[in-house]
Amino acid sequence: MIAELIAVGTELTSGQALDTNSQWLSQALGRVGVSVAFHTTVGDDVADNVSVFTIASKRADLVIVTGGLGPTQDDLTREVLAKVSGVSLVQDDASLEAIQDLFARRNRVMTERNRVQAMFPEGSDVLANRVGTAPGIWRKVGRAWFAALPGVPYEMKIMYDEQVVPRLKAEGLASRVIVHRKLNLFGRGEAEVEALALDLTARGHKPEVGITVSDATLSFRVAGEGADEAEALASIEETVETIRHRFADIYLGEGDVDVVDALVAELARTGSTFALAESCTGGLMAQQVTAVAGVSAYFLGGVVSYSNRSKSAMLGVPAELIERAGAVSPEVAEAMALGARERFGVDYALSVTGVAGPGGGTLEKPVGLVYLGMAGPSGVSSRKLELGPEQPRKVIQSRSSKNALNWLRLELKAF
Ligand code: AMP
Ligand code: MG
Repeated sequence: MIAELIAVGTELTSGQALDTNSQWLSQALGRVGVSVAFHTTVGDDVADNVSVFTIASKRADLVIVTGGLGPTQDDLTREVLAKVSGVSLVQDDASLEAIQDLFARRNRVMTERNRVQAMFPEGSDVLANRVGTAPGIWRKVGRAWFAALPGVPYEMKIMYDEQVVPRLKAEGLASRVIVHRKLNLFGRGEAEVEALALDLTARGHKPEVGITVSDATLSFRVAGEGADEAEALASIEETVETIRHRFADIYLGEGDVDVVDALVAELARTGSTFALAESCTGGLMAQQVTAVAGVSAYFLGGVVSYSNRSKSAMLGVPAELIERAGAVSPEVAEAMALGARERFGVDYALSVTGVAGPGGGTLEKPVGLVYLGMAGPSGVSSRKLELGPEQPRKVIQSRSSKNALNWLRLELKAF
């Protein structure tokens, strides 16, 4: 079973708008067991449309077209569908009435051009549009079932759910269920993790396993298939368990769970409180922590001490220490953490001080050099990160934040 999506519109091929319809449709089709083999995007040109429709009618069993159903000159989908089917366009009276009604209800004058929207390639099924003027089209072309839907995402989605899915079921095109689980990890590089998972990511492995990276968080994506959801989930259970077990030390959780969510879970489990002392992250860590609902029970506050003076005034870091060791040093990171722990009266405090760049780096302390500090019930310690002078400022800040939060997560996990 081969499925293809065709997005029609010059606004898409010219890069002015992004084809979000195909993304949504691929996900929706996946949930009913249809995996999409092709995404095709084509501008508003008759010959180009005839060409891609013809190719699709030969290589696919299901083709969903979005766009080009409007009333304007550049809306060509009905004309093209008639051409590739070798039939003429005929008026559908019920559709014309529905369009006239819609204009009457909205108190607007219907133009002659809107009549075009009631024209269908002879022998097509009409896909009713209860939220807009353009009805859709359902017909067989070559080996493929074609569904032509409006480009407007809101109309497209309703028509897909209400008109297309039942037809897919009736034609036996949507009989399987596909499920996905996403397992997130942090703390090791992609290549290193992949090297430990070659047996799972090998081509042809059932179930299918892929690795993606987003902002240094790695994700295993496991896809399962079955006659129903329970069967599909059961088909991937063992693989999911293998991954969780094999990468237990760096496993964060499933779905949208990232380092900060996993940290908050550990704070909740251990009933611990914490505070932050941030220099080069400028409050990014506090922002990420407070994005988690309910964290107020564990996170008591933070300080952005971006100057030497504020490190002394707000966190009690001795000016003499900053003078001697430098603001970016393990000594100052530890003093910041100790100061925050004492002043906020928390179990743990994390600190970050580093060179975020692009300027300010020296041979001794290059851009990307960051020290993390942690003060807790059993004392204070620091860690050095070398994130690389070539990294953009944003990445250095983000990695610093994630590494610091992850350090506390691991500390609590061992506790
Ligand atoms: P059309 O049906 O071609 O007149 O498209 C109507 C409107 O829907 C366009 O102006 C776009 O804003 C939007 N649209 C069309 N195709 C897509 C697509 N593939 N993804 C997202 N929006 C789209
Ligand atoms: Mg268009």
